[in-house]
Amino acid sequence: MPRPMTITEKILAAHAGLDEVEPGQLINCALDIVLANDVTAPIAIREFRRTGLEKVWDAEKIALVPDHYTPNKDIKSAEQAKVMRDFVNEQGITHYYEIGCMGVEHALLPEQGVVGAGDVIIGADSHTCTYGALGAFATGVGSTDAAAGMATGEAWFKVPASIKFVVTGELGPWVSGKDLILHIIGMIGVDGALYQAMEFTGPTVEALGMDDRMTVCNMAIEAGGKSGIIAVDDTTRAYLDGRAERPWTEYFSDPDAEYARVIEIDASQLKPTVSFPHLPSNTRLAEDSRDVWVDQVVIGSCTNGRIEDMRIAAEVLKGRKVHENIRLIIIPATQEIYRQAMHEGLFDIFLDANAAVSTPTCGPCLGGHMGILAAGERAVATTNRNFVGRMGDPTSEVYLSSPAVAAATAVAGHIAVPEDLE
Ligand code: SF4
Repeated sequence: MPRPMTITEKILAAHAGLDEVEPGQLINCALDIVLANDVTAPIAIREFRRTGLEKVWDAEKIALVPDHYTPNKDIKSAEQAKVMRDFVNEQGITHYYEIGCMGVEHALLPEQGVVGAGDVIIGADSHTCTYGALGAFATGVGSTDAAAGMATGEAWFKVPASIKFVVTGELGPWVSGKDLILHIIGMIGVDGALYQAMEFTGPTVEALGMDDRMTVCNMAIEAGGKSGIIAVDDTTRAYLDGRAERPWTEYFSDPDAEYARVIEIDASQLKPTVSFPHLPSNTRLAEDSRDVWVDQVVIGSCTNGRIEDMRIAAEVLKGRKVHENIRLIIIPATQEIYRQAMHEGLFDIFLDANAAVSTPTCGPCLGGHMGILAAGERAVATTNRNFVGRMGDPTSEVYLSSPAVAAATAVAGHIAVPEDLE
């Protein structure tokens, strides 16, 4: 009998061809998908060429997404996107998403059924951990590791220990998965899960929809986590059914699996939460932050640019106007979300409120384009990082929040909760 294992250990063992693994063990795993974007792919492609190989390991298992500086913001970004596009054509890579079909990678790949339960996925982007929401082991790697993955279809891992979060209690009004993960990061710190798998369990997690689950797993890296993961249930199955392009495998933690820590959270006590500059762990309650006046609000990104996020923003903005001192930028994360939001009439609500709605892009999230902050400016954003200069000038500030708080802030002019608008 193999030792009792966590879901993460089981996925890794299966991909390493082993009956069991334990934390700290070095293993070589078969990969299901290797991902890179317009920033990291050109480096990975250069490193791939240094191997001397002519062909990638499997042209159908590499996903290349131009999302960071696209539609291209300048000549340099156009050249980077071209390197990727030329490589796609040369290698016959099937999972490539041109402008008009693209989206922010971590919203796009689950939506398109490219990633599924039980997969092992590496991505040359730190928020690759998002796919843990589908019951996969997914982690960010450097461009060189992505190049090796593209060449061999394998990657070395040190098996991470796991932290189990047991979340109980009903979420209150306007409290979402974003508030839950910000609360967790505030509680354990930006290195609180260093090189560990963050396994989210409990009735509150089971009650979350897929969009919220992806938000939670997306920010595992902001606590230093190697990965985030939520076991498959009916919500996952309903999401994957008719969408996943490959058969998926369900893994579950053994009841007596060993964890580095078990942390219990009563979610009924949570309130809308904001991360102050310049760390995601610098959390405070939104209701205690009303003295923070802001210049710009961004609703989008791989963290909160999905359709549920658009719906929540619209619910708050309906019949209201953006504050005269605020620029509100809303970015649906994929073309499909964009189309859905348009069909549901959400764009009318956004435009009536005087928001700007953009084509899918990472854009302002990384200070790329489409909403750079000037010196001393402040933004509330539904993104995942608020490091110094993340969205623009080094003296600018980013406050992380849920779409509900972001939309309320856009109307109030200062950090606000939706109840403030009543
Ligand atoms: Fe990275 Fe932001 Fe793009 Fe997400 S939206 S992949 S965090 S740049």
